[in-house]
Amino acid sequence: MDYEIVIGLEVHTQLLTKSKMFCSCSADYASAPPNTHVCPVCLGMPGVLPVINEKAIQYTAMTALALNCTIPEYTKFDRKNYFYPDLMKGYQISQYDAPIGKGGWLTIDSNGSKKRVNITRVHLEEDTAKLLHRGDYSLIDVNRSGVPLMEVVSEPEISSPEEARDYLIRLHNILRYLGVSTANMEEGSFRCDANISIRPVASKGFLPKVEVKNMNSFKAIYQALKYEAGRQGKVLEEGGELVQETRGWIEEKGITVLQRTKEYAEDYRYFPEPDLPPLVVDRSWIEETRARLPELPEARRDRFMTHYGLSLYDANILTGSKAMAGYFEDCVRLTGPGKAKVVSNWVLGDFSRLLNATNTEIENARISPKHLADMLVLVDNGAISGPTAKAVLEEMFQTGKGASDIIRERKLNQISDAGEIKEVVSQVMAVNAGAVADYASGKQQALTFLVGQVMKATRGRANPGVVKEIIMQELGGK
Ligand SMILES: [Zn+2]
Repeated sequence: MDYEIVIGLEVHTQLLTKSKMFCSCSADYASAPPNTHVCPVCLGMPGVLPVINEKAIQYTAMTALALNCTIPEYTKFDRKNYFYPDLMKGYQISQYDAPIGKGGWLTIDSNGSKKRVNITRVHLEEDTAKLLHRGDYSLIDVNRSGVPLMEVVSEPEISSPEEARDYLIRLHNILRYLGVSTANMEEGSFRCDANISIRPVASKGFLPKVEVKNMNSFKAIYQALKYEAGRQGKVLEEGGELVQETRGWIEEKGITVLQRTKEYAEDYRYFPEPDLPPLVVDRSWIEETRARLPELPEARRDRFMTHYGLSLYDANILTGSKAMAGYFEDCVRLTGPGKAKVVSNWVLGDFSRLLNATNTEIENARISPKHLADMLVLVDNGAISGPTAKAVLEEMFQTGKGASDIIRERKLNQISDAGEIKEVVSQVMAVNAGAVADYASGKQQALTFLVGQVMKATRGRANPGVVKEIIMQELGGK
């Protein structure tokens, strides 16, 4: 039997606020010693009172608007009650039935066509402390407790692991454009839980879903969903029955393993948080927030195509990273829009190759947009040839020096002087008598070969146009 896949995603993102969600402790704990960013509030001491972080509300509203959600006039916080060693108070302040954002969507490109994936809700809660398991004992670091955590929940409308990956990459990109989160997956500031089930093609109902956890990269999420769809299909093929359960992805083994079944599903006994007032969201504040949203990836991609004449493919890759799109535009501002295609080719070609080979983010690269723009001027005015420019770029990348310094130090400037080129041409013709004879007997490709030999002898520095002209003169002007 053929099955179709049904996936819904829950993404938790830590917000990039200065302080935590309900206290004044610094939320920037990544490199802090354990248990140093703590106070009675985030330690869950009795009798303390939480205070709402306004910036976190603003960031959540920005995200909700960017995801086409509506923001209801009334929103509130609720207590989600459960007991776990990483939960300091024995409850988490979250949002239950009145989230900040409701009913939005984002579009993904699925097999060349656009698909809209609906967003159920965007809500705000607090992160938990972190447990570090060490063999037969565990340690707790409370620094993470109370860090603002935004959750984006999709409808179960994602139909393949590929679509799930596209959705996550798109959402991740939007969060970075908004600047509301580092969205760093390795550091855990962008985390995804996936609900997946399968059902016979064209059937309407849902079979029990499995929640998959512990995936720390886009690749892991893709592989875990791929594995899980296959596992569920096999259970049904073998006449087994699927049950609602939570499974963990084991990266090293490439499998999911059972963590708990529905029998143990918690009843969170939500109730309104009595220590916080409900929030009445002012309509004019929403419109101000909407007006202040930065340009988002899709809009920027479309603008790159209309304004700079880039292809959909190139514009998609450039705007796939806010930093790369910014780099491109900074460079084009210096070269002029007429050079946009050339700049795009260098950024997506040789420069990206160097970035990938060294696992460097473009914002940390030693070639500034000014460096690249300067180098393109030198190529344009004939100071260096195309092949030399590639070598110069590589040295710029390694040393952070400007192109003109490198060219001067390494004597890489292009040779256009006819006398100098003539000398090399004579030498090349002397040792390649066969090719000279071939050309005389009408073989045009012998000319290309000889030009190549001169370029090789000058390590790419000779001006190819001048070389060709001189060889043709020497060979009798054919
Ligand atoms: Zn605190």
